[in-house]
Amino acid sequence: MSELIRAEIRALSAYHVPDPGEMIKLDAMENPFHLPDGLIRQWQDLMRDVPLNRYPDPSARELTRRLREVMDVPEGQAVILGNGSDELIQIMAMSVAEKGRVIMAPEPGFVMYKMIATFVAMDYVGVPLNTDFSLDLEAMLAAIKRHQPALIFLAYPNNPTANLFDEAAIVEIIKASPGLVVIDEAYHPFACTSFMGRLGEFDNLLVMRTVSKMGLAGLRLGLLAGPEKWLAEFDKVRLPYNINVLTQMTASFVLQHADVFEQQAKTIRQQREWLLTELAAFDGLEVFPSRANFILVRLKVGDANAVFAALKDAGILIKNLHPSGGMLEQCLRITVGTPEENQALLVSLNKILLAG
Ligand SMILES: *Cc1c(COP(=O)(O)O)cnc(C)c1O
Repeated sequence: MSELIRAEIRALSAYHVPDPGEMIKLDAMENPFHLPDGLIRQWQDLMRDVPLNRYPDPSARELTRRLREVMDVPEGQAVILGNGSDELIQIMAMSVAEKGRVIMAPEPGFVMYKMIATFVAMDYVGVPLNTDFSLDLEAMLAAIKRHQPALIFLAYPNNPTANLFDEAAIVEIIKASPGLVVIDEAYHPFACTSFMGRLGEFDNLLVMRTVSKMGLAGLRLGLLAGPEKWLAEFDKVRLPYNINVLTQMTASFVLQHADVFEQQAKTIRQQREWLLTELAAFDGLEVFPSRANFILVRLKVGDANAVFAALKDAGILIKNLHPSGGMLEQCLRITVGTPEENQALLVSLNKILLAG
């Protein structure tokens, strides 16, 4: 009976999210700050009138308008929305899926690219980054030539490595690609640079954003921008009403106050710079540059599994990347939290690394 399920699916393990309980949560790149009380009250008033009995606007027109403005989508470029950017990745993959076709991304990278390629029975090709986690442009160009990928995903900044790839190298990749190149800007609020303004320069360039990392992870809302001719096709694959009425109304409202999120992002960027310096002061840690709201570190001595477990015992949940192996051996990923949370992390880490 189990053969009913495709072998590739049976071989997967489900996307695992640990229950944080009461722990300090520095594992999932969430914004740790809440909205101001005044805004929450206005939002609650608005929610009273949400027509829960009606289907939402299938094309989320008002929200789309707001997002175009807040995310600086250039005039003349189309937009579609997804239930998180994960859904947009899935929509793109379903639209191009054919046996033997390839989705490509640098590795280590965001795990959903490979997962979704598997879901839609496409081939996935991961191209190793250089050891400093920069793009290996030669390897990418050779892989593009060989595999002719239908879709390439470049996370900018990259997850889990936190660095920005070289802009000129990305442009080379876009020019060399026979298929579509998606710049995944999930961490845009912390990167202060973007390919959004370059949409239209290349026929095969798409830019993806999400509100998850900026402080609205609970809403599940992502945006894909690019040429109409591609997005009109993707829109046929999108399920009707994929953006529910609570998300539409909430996001339309809170994004009128985008300055609140920018202020929070600024605090997170400052905390990141401070944490980078503090972490670099530990002899036992190699700290990689970050343009995101998280930091990748590698243990020079000792054991990442043990440090991860000790932090957990101390009530701090981070992401252990050691089980991923390869270039991520002995690596841990730490989301930037509130100043208090970051301080608590450093205190615990200090005890653990000195004891180890
Ligand atoms: C977190 C993340 C996403 C997922 O965003 P959602 O909108 O929450 O689905 C996409 N891409 C990268 C690189 C991410 O790290």
